[in-house]
Amino acid sequence: MTTIKLYNTRTRKKEEFVPLDPDNVRMYVCGPTVYDRAHLGNARPVVVFDVLYRLLRQVYGSDHVTYVRNFTDVDDKINARAAETDRQIGDITAETTQWFLDDMGKLGALEPDHMPRATQYIDQMIEMIETLIEKGHAYAAEGHVLFAVDSWKEGYGKLSGRSVDDMIAGARVEVAPYKKNPMDFVLWKPSTADLPGWDSPWGRGRPGWHIECSAMAYELLGESFDIHGGGNDLMFPHHENEIAQSRCAHPEGHFANVWLHNEMLQVEGKKMSKSLGNFFTVHDLLEQGVPGEVIRFVFLSTHYRKPMDWTAEKAVSAEAKLFGFVELIAMYGDLEIARSLAPERAIIDALADDLNTHAALECLSKMNDADSANRLARNIEFLGLYSWSQLERKVSAYRDAKTILRSLEKKLSTLREVALSTKDFSEVDAMKSALQIANVSVRMNKSGISLSPEMGFDPAKLEPLL
Ligand code: AMP
Ligand code: ZN
Repeated sequence: MTTIKLYNTRTRKKEEFVPLDPDNVRMYVCGPTVYDRAHLGNARPVVVFDVLYRLLRQVYGSDHVTYVRNFTDVDDKINARAAETDRQIGDITAETTQWFLDDMGKLGALEPDHMPRATQYIDQMIEMIETLIEKGHAYAAEGHVLFAVDSWKEGYGKLSGRSVDDMIAGARVEVAPYKKNPMDFVLWKPSTADLPGWDSPWGRGRPGWHIECSAMAYELLGESFDIHGGGNDLMFPHHENEIAQSRCAHPEGHFANVWLHNEMLQVEGKKMSKSLGNFFTVHDLLEQGVPGEVIRFVFLSTHYRKPMDWTAEKAVSAEAKLFGFVELIAMYGDLEIARSLAPERAIIDALADDLNTHAALECLSKMNDADSANRLARNIEFLGLYSWSQLERKVSAYRDAKTILRSLEKKLSTLREVALSTKDFSEVDAMKSALQIANVSVRMNKSGISLSPEMGFDPAKLEPLL
């Protein structure tokens, strides 16, 4: 059995991963707030944890991994968007949720086993809040319910390595008259008639943000589970608060064993975020013609615990690599055989070493001769760069193109023979430039003419030349 090592934020060490139950390895990842298109930064955790999900499925079996990623569909940003646009909240969240799934699907991300929506778990949140009040970890005040951080001083701040006092000094905490300690955070808050709200023991209201993940993780994964993931911007306060809620409501469990945090996608050294306005969406990039697999390749080329910049040069070089892979597979591969292979040991080992995706891509690049074509295809699929059906389409498009190019080679060589005797090369030149526009490389020498598709090759542009 492969030994997986992961860097655990909780212990600040790279540790051997030992699942609580190898028959059901459980992972929770914080998902998006659905009020707008996902920006490219939001896609980073999706791709990172998709790679981990694929690795876990490979090592423990695809029926033995449960991956949960939520949709936050109750949030003040959503309410604000509805007010600005005069639209129904439910329409905005349904539309944005589907956009998210479509965009992430294009990046090769498998859908998690469960994708709970916060609004479907309000009862469980209320129940958890009641438990916290009963156990003396929360209090109701002025229609709000707050978590009392002083009630769990021994645990609060452990993940991010800060004491409650440091946090008060460092964080922009909202001071409110109903808070006993400025660090106390909201579990429940009152809703006015124009805002979404649910009946509760504390009046009509809505949940604070953090409680949803605790309630949904408990419901779907239990009081203890293996891995909790998200971007490192969530470590404090979101993850710290999740831990406090879950550990205090369910002291019999320990919540997540391993905490994994991806570093941020940056723009000129600053986190890409909606609030800074320095973002572009995944959808924008796809619309501009950057294929999803190129975005995924660029992401995988940087380790998840390092900050990364998106650059156009990286995208061009990723596209060239992927084109080279498809070319090799189309020329020498057989996808039937490829499908029957197991993923490469070296690639599994690279991923098992705290998700060294960069090393995994290096392994792919080394599979560069005719004999490696099937292994290459197998591992491209394993890393989620192309699904089997995408590979089939790519490979057959390449092969069809080669067939067309073979007849164009004949046509061009006839034209050249004629031109050699008439000394009029205009038709040869016209055809050569049409081929180049379709991204076909043209090699001509004494022994003959050879045409091959190049990156960005467009078969539709060849039809008129036939
Ligand atoms: P949000 O909708 O802002 O709560 O973010 C959803 C997910 O995207 C969380 O896991 C965040 O940590 C992650 N995220 C947000 N911005 C970035 C970024 N610039 N780079 C990487 N991950 C990010
Ligand atoms: Zn969360």
